[in-house]
Amino acid sequence: MIVRVTLEIAVGKEFDYQVPLDLRRLVTVGSRVKVPFGPRQLMGVVTALVETGKVTKLRDVVSVVGKQSLVTPNILSLARWMAEYYCCPVETALKSVLPDSVRKEREGWKERLFVRALSLDGGLPPLTKRQATVWAIVERHREIPLQSLIREAKTSPETVRRLEDKGLVAITPQVLERDPFANETIVPTTKLALNEGQEKALDEIIGVCDRPEEGQQVFLLHGVTGSGKTEVYLQAIEHVLEQGKGAIVLVPEISLTPQTVERFKARFSQGPLRTLVAVLHSHLSAGEKHDEWHKIRQGRARIVIGARSAVFAPVDPLGLIIVDEEHEYSYKQEEAPRYHARDVGIVRAQREGAVVVLGTATPSMETYYNAQRGKYRLLELASRVDTKTLPLVRVVDLRLEARKEKGIPIFSLKLKEGITQRLERGEQVMLFLNRRGYAASLQCPLCGFVAGCPHCSVSLAYHRHDAQLRCHVCGHVEGVPRVCPQPECRSPQIRYAGIGTERVEETLGKLFPKARVRRMDSDALRRKDDYRLILNEFRLGKIDILLGTQMIAKGLHFPNVTLVGIVYADLSLHIPDFRAGERTFQLLTQVAGRAGRGDVEGEVFVQSFTPFHPAIQHARRHDYQGFYEQEVEFRRELSYPPLMRMCALTLRGRHEDRTRMAAEYLKGRIEEGITDLRELIIAGPAEATLLRAESFYRFQIVLRTHSMAALGQRLAALMVKVDLPDDVQVIVDIDPATF
Ligand code: ADP
Ligand code: ZN
Ligand code: ZN
Repeated sequence: MIVRVTLEIAVGKEFDYQVPLDLRRLVTVGSRVKVPFGPRQLMGVVTALVETGKVTKLRDVVSVVGKQSLVTPNILSLARWMAEYYCCPVETALKSVLPDSVRKEREGWKERLFVRALSLDGGLPPLTKRQATVWAIVERHREIPLQSLIREAKTSPETVRRLEDKGLVAITPQVLERDPFANETIVPTTKLALNEGQEKALDEIIGVCDRPEEGQQVFLLHGVTGSGKTEVYLQAIEHVLEQGKGAIVLVPEISLTPQTVERFKARFSQGPLRTLVAVLHSHLSAGEKHDEWHKIRQGRARIVIGARSAVFAPVDPLGLIIVDEEHEYSYKQEEAPRYHARDVGIVRAQREGAVVVLGTATPSMETYYNAQRGKYRLLELASRVDTKTLPLVRVVDLRLEARKEKGIPIFSLKLKEGITQRLERGEQVMLFLNRRGYAASLQCPLCGFVAGCPHCSVSLAYHRHDAQLRCHVCGHVEGVPRVCPQPECRSPQIRYAGIGTERVEETLGKLFPKARVRRMDSDALRRKDDYRLILNEFRLGKIDILLGTQMIAKGLHFPNVTLVGIVYADLSLHIPDFRAGERTFQLLTQVAGRAGRGDVEGEVFVQSFTPFHPAIQHARRHDYQGFYEQEVEFRRELSYPPLMRMCALTLRGRHEDRTRMAAEYLKGRIEEGITDLRELIIAGPAEATLLRAESFYRFQIVLRTHSMAALGQRLAALMVKVDLPDDVQVIVDIDPATF
């Protein structure tokens, strides 16, 4: 028996090994094995059983790790597709399909000793006083972890052993699962009667679930926040459970709150379709991840909720993949393999005969374009479930305000009044500014000096609470100068420019001294639980004004929030990325969706210096269609996605000229090497948006094509042949999400 093995080191090759007789029974495709490699032993995954080896003299597999193969054939072939499509080594792709803790199996199941009361046949034997106390506790619990018993009875393990000797209790090791939501109580729910729109959507989805071989398997469920998408997901899942299949629900990391998880757990916590719901996301401990993953692998959890990498969860058979907030950029992984979970999900579903539902209020241009072309089936939920109107959005022209107030105000008069009114009525306010810190930069008005990062081409942000200048790209920190550091200037008038969340927090304190204000950005969250705790306080009404970065913009449901303010809508508009307009539209729509989810009508204030920008105006009217139509024209004129596919090659090096020259050279090789693809557009090399980041200079070549799979293959073949300087690295990003 010969197996082909992918090793854990990225060498871009697979190796064949002989399987000794005693291991044959244990080895299948997907098994993890320890194999000799040079003088070392390495871990690897069996990717195939082969007839004849690549070389005649094969070395032996040393051992098989774990009882069950971890990578199922389905996931293995998905990893291979990923490596090919995203131009990365198979090993890299394989690594990302298993959580680290599962792959390395450092954290096994946690075993603990449990004490269990045995049934007494012949009555209670004589006990000492101490033994009697311990016995009473065991009897009350029936079963209790040894450690808890010792604590509760203030006793020693010896005393418990005496009870065991007398045949009263059994002490046995048992697996104790780490449940990240152990302390939540879950109230079971049953399905709601659907409204007409939901009913129609569900019918179509179920129809395809029953006959996946006919018709289009990908749905776009387009509905505003509060239109009842989640209820449709829940009932679609119920249907696939009835079919004996499982479901994966992808949610952006940031929306993966206990609230979200609870809605799914509550629906499937009892009844005939009862199943565990596993949760996979980056905040779990390694041990928790291990346990959650194995619950899925063993088939005990047939529903998985998770962030990006949950798309690889070993649900088998798989009936449904839901991608909530499909437009979110966090679905794209920013390191190799640079995959997009939505797109991988669609490919996986296609191979496994599953159905995909993409849900959002603001579809990405790519998804809506595909729906328009009939590649996906479009389902619309036109209004909110409760027929509540969408909040009134007021756009405040900050240019006028600036003229009135001499200088740039943080709060316009209208926004100030709005907040005052809401606070007086005991309602809650959310304010949003996508920039943390106190000020964006430190500047000298006399000589024009701006404090910049020594490693990146950005200015340093001023953080007041710890009096530091910080780089938001690389994390570089330095002290705050009292005078201008330019030797010939030394002016003491150095001042802050550009407003961050800390500054808004300070101003709020002055304007509304009685209000309870909390700031929520990555600086304010110090511990793992802070996010949860702050939101909980907000929900309980212990906070009046919640102020934050994009962290607070997503999928949260607070009925008492009646006013949402966007302090500067322009921040996301003026980034040099062709998706700036799309992103601003999405952001404004999502943020606006936070207001008025309860009984009181909500209102939204958008403060902006460019109030007539189409992204702002369409968001103001809640007009997705209008936005899409004007945006797709703009993309068409420039041959940008979704009209063409894109691939970004970033060259990275410490030496500016060498990196630039390497980029020129690579472009030349592409031009002469890839000639058979019609309509291939090659742009650049150009300086990356941030020319310098973390001391690396970066140049970009952008390729556009109608057939990305073909381009990917050509590129992979070409990259092996080009000879770039050792100190210049190339990053291939297929379908890049950001620039
Ligand atoms: P979305 O996921 O689109 O934001 P949700 O599914 O969360 O919308 O629905 C918003 C609210 O409406 C939730 O509180 C949900 O329980 C409720 N809801 C959804 N569908 C119905 C229905 N058919 N009847 C009554 N209430 C519903
Ligand atoms: Zn100066
Ligand atoms: Zn930096």
